[in-house]
Amino acid sequence: MTHNTETMFTHIQKAIQKAGEELGYSEKTITNITHPYNIVEKSVQVDGIDNSVDVYRVQFNNALGPYKGGIRFHPDVDLDEVKTLAITMMLKCSLVDIPLGGAKGGATINPKELNDKQIEAVARAWARTMHEVIGVDQDIPAPDVNTNGQIMSYMLDEYESTVGHSEPGVITGKPLELGGSKGRDKATSQGGVYVLEKVLEYFPEKVGTKKVVIQGFGNVGSFAATLLANKDFTIVGISDSKGAIYSEKGLDVEMIAEKKRSERVSLHELFTSNDAIKKISNEELLIQPCDILIPAALENQITESNADAIHASVILELANNPTSVAADIILKEKDVVVIPDFLANAGGVTVSYFEWVQNRQQYYWKLKDVDDKLFDIMVAATEKTYKMSQKEGLTLREAGFRVAVDRVAKAVALRGIK
Ligand code: NAD
Repeated sequence: MTHNTETMFTHIQKAIQKAGEELGYSEKTITNITHPYNIVEKSVQVDGIDNSVDVYRVQFNNALGPYKGGIRFHPDVDLDEVKTLAITMMLKCSLVDIPLGGAKGGATINPKELNDKQIEAVARAWARTMHEVIGVDQDIPAPDVNTNGQIMSYMLDEYESTVGHSEPGVITGKPLELGGSKGRDKATSQGGVYVLEKVLEYFPEKVGTKKVVIQGFGNVGSFAATLLANKDFTIVGISDSKGAIYSEKGLDVEMIAEKKRSERVSLHELFTSNDAIKKISNEELLIQPCDILIPAALENQITESNADAIHASVILELANNPTSVAADIILKEKDVVVIPDFLANAGGVTVSYFEWVQNRQQYYWKLKDVDDKLFDIMVAATEKTYKMSQKEGLTLREAGFRVAVDRVAKAVALRGIK
């Protein structure tokens, strides 16, 4: 993913450098938080797969606590992408004030071309290969794109068989039966909703008629749609990888989510185009009339080619890195409030943190406890970011960088790197 010869990774490094200098940290401290502490990159043999599989773990920074971050199974996974996601995890954990560092992992495979047995074998090979660098006090992986509770279960099982003892806190995003947390499935979206509502309180002029367009209807997008529809928002457009649907009057997203789960069909297959519902392309969806746009699919979706045509006055980045650098500048000129990914989607890692705490205590919380604690953390992070933006005249993204960099840089300096 390049933006005018600059990659997203080097762009984030530069943004951290700028925030660090403005906060008065030394070059030594800043270099420490812009470069990964440890990279594991291996090619492994996997039962039932002919070619070897590339597996990665980037442990970016653990000054604030053990490394933490998901594992992605996708054909585009490479070292640069894993580094970009790992540095973002460092910022996320720092911004929401949890005692964890940043990491990310992946395997370069196309899960759509593999059967369940082969995917299980990749999961087990990943856990075996990484068992020496992960651990409950060392590095705690979790799911990301194309990985889920079942895959975390295979990885937990493989890890525990390799090290020879029970250690449920080594991985999060587990099913409840294996020590998962209540509320983890909807956590990213629930956290995003708490942040969005707080931001709308700060910018009442941006609320409009609360019409929402959501790109992506997977785990994050479908939970966000139902949570918002159950409040007083109207979901006017949604999409999956095959196409989008739009209805000015609003879509029954609960019914659609249920049908997609039970029938496993695309949104376009679910509907015939009629007066009430328009079938459109993914590209068209992003520029439909709405007040709030929520990218919840892939990176680099809002670019200089569509940013100018976007109607929304608020963008909630539930996906990681959905906005290109050039698009971000255009949106700033248009006075669109962009809620950056490392704030908007940090609810996922926050409830992963709760899961790790519960595993360590072997004491499990009610859903209400999880939601209440999540609310407190997301609102506090939003308040800190907003206040910094007002004090220094920054966008929420620029302010988020300042807040996140300050906490992790302080930890690094306290450890003597100053
Ligand atoms: P998912 O695989 O469950 O869902 C992705 C959705 O995007 C699917 O509906 C897919 O059909 C759709 N999609 C794919 N390509 C598309 C395209 N070109 N246009 C429109 N839709 C398209 O993944 P997820 O877990 O929901 O993650 C979505 C995003 O949120 C990713 O960027 C991920 O890194 C980020 N995220 C996820 C979590 C989490 O807890 N799952 C936490 C933080 C961030």
